[in-house]
Amino acid sequence: MAFTCRQCGTCCMYLGDYIVIDHQVGPFEFACESVSTGTTFTARIDEDKREIFSHHAFPDEHPHACRFLRPDGCLLRCTIHHDSPVQCKFYRCAIMRIMDPDGNPLGMVTGTLNLHSDDTVLRAIWNNAEKSIPESVPDVEERRQVYLTERGYRVE
Ligand code: SF4
Ligand code: SF4
Repeated sequence: MAFTCRQCGTCCMYLGDYIVIDHQVGPFEFACESVSTGTTFTARIDEDKREIFSHHAFPDEHPHACRFLRPDGCLLRCTIHHDSPVQCKFYRCAIMRIMDPDGNPLGMVTGTLNLHSDDTVLRAIWNNAEKSIPESVPDVEERRQVYLTERGYRVE
């Protein structure tokens, strides 16, 4: 199941202390450090995002957000997608989003296979899923997806 980042920016809103700009080395180039891994890297602003990067209202209003995050229409986008640290590139906030048959969101599942949902019926089904689904489907993620789909839920 492919994960599609919706570019909502939520995961980057409090990473300003972790993705740190050390100093500027060019008009759109920065010497940076990824604090959590202790690695340095050079970040060049993606060419197609230089205009939005040049607006500083957002980082001024959100001092805890990553310095490279910028609004772009209804999205919040990483402006160093090409040069972002590896942990950013591989981050997946959710492995599954669950909706009712009409597409209304009911919950999401994190990479640790924890369901986040206020829907008590869905929670009960989720908790029962593991012991009820056939072992013939080897992948636990896929098994849960099949189980939910058979019960009328939409899963992405
Ligand atoms: S990884 Fe998730 S939280 Fe982060 S921007 Fe993408 S959809 Fe939003
Ligand atoms: S470098 Fe990009 S993906 Fe990583 S925290 Fe900053 S804005 Fe988010």
